[in-house]
Amino acid sequence: MGVGSGEAMLGFSDYQHLFIGQEATDLDRHHAILMNIDFHAGRPWPLDIALWDLAGKTQGEAVWKMLGGKAPRLRAYQSSGVHRSSDDMVGVARRCLAAGIPALKVRFGRSDFTDDIAVLQAIREAVGDQLDLMVDCNQGWRMPWDTASSWDLEHALQVAKALEKLDVFWMEEPLHRGDYEGMRALRNKAGIRIAGAELTREPYEWRELLERDCLDVFQPDAVLTGGISGLAPFARQVAQKGRLFSSHTWGNGLGVMANLQLIAGTSGDTYVEWPLDAPEWTPERRDYLLKSPLELDGQGWFTMPDTPGLGIELNEEVLEQTLSKTATFH
Ligand SMILES: [Mg+2]
Repeated sequence: MGVGSGEAMLGFSDYQHLFIGQEATDLDRHHAILMNIDFHAGRPWPLDIALWDLAGKTQGEAVWKMLGGKAPRLRAYQSSGVHRSSDDMVGVARRCLAAGIPALKVRFGRSDFTDDIAVLQAIREAVGDQLDLMVDCNQGWRMPWDTASSWDLEHALQVAKALEKLDVFWMEEPLHRGDYEGMRALRNKAGIRIAGAELTREPYEWRELLERDCLDVFQPDAVLTGGISGLAPFARQVAQKGRLFSSHTWGNGLGVMANLQLIAGTSGDTYVEWPLDAPEWTPERRDYLLKSPLELDGQGWFTMPDTPGLGIELNEEVLEQTLSKTATFH
């Protein structure tokens, strides 16, 4: 059996007959059909992840090795998500450093961006150059209830200049996902890496972003967009052009692992997202559905497992207790 994770695959039941009775390991055929379903219904990518898990188990090989086996270990950055005071964020940064994790991502979005900058400045003053710092501006897409507009180029540039002074490693989603010209202009004018495309849905959109030199770091998430089948060739193109590929992984441990398999198989040349922001986001909460939580060593490295497939084992007991027929992405 193969397992996957991601969104609730809304509308998929109308199309499941397209898979029943088919050869499970015909990944290209299934991916082509999933692309069509993705156009007509909810994001169906958990099935692609499950099919890769199954293909790996059938062949007796880890998915990252099937994809090319580029990086036997990956170095994590701690991805935080909660807006805390400067003092509390300094505490997060100090714990990150003490755990040996070399980089920390800070979420912006306080009511005034100068408050965000003040928090970042406090962290930089506390840890010096011992941590690489990323910033997530979250302007690429909106939650269903959010009516606020994304930043414009002028504001994004103003923020970028402040981040440049604090030696930020990358600025994530500074503009709307479709603002190609804005991203390219920002990338040209700001002395800082620009990251994005975490939920960008269509392969032609990823290609536009790459060909138009909009981004330094590409972040499509395999469980939410394109699956491993769609993203593996793209991640190789990104690497070929000398850009970085580092999927969004914010979600549960199965989704984290699916993306680590993708990255380790195709590139693995920069930090990978490690969702961790205690007390709200703990390894126990992130990995509740796994028999054992994913672990980093004392320097922030994750060693890729050689176990066939995705290399995870589900905690069936917990899954049974938490079964929901109504859960959606929110
Ligand atoms: Mg993000």
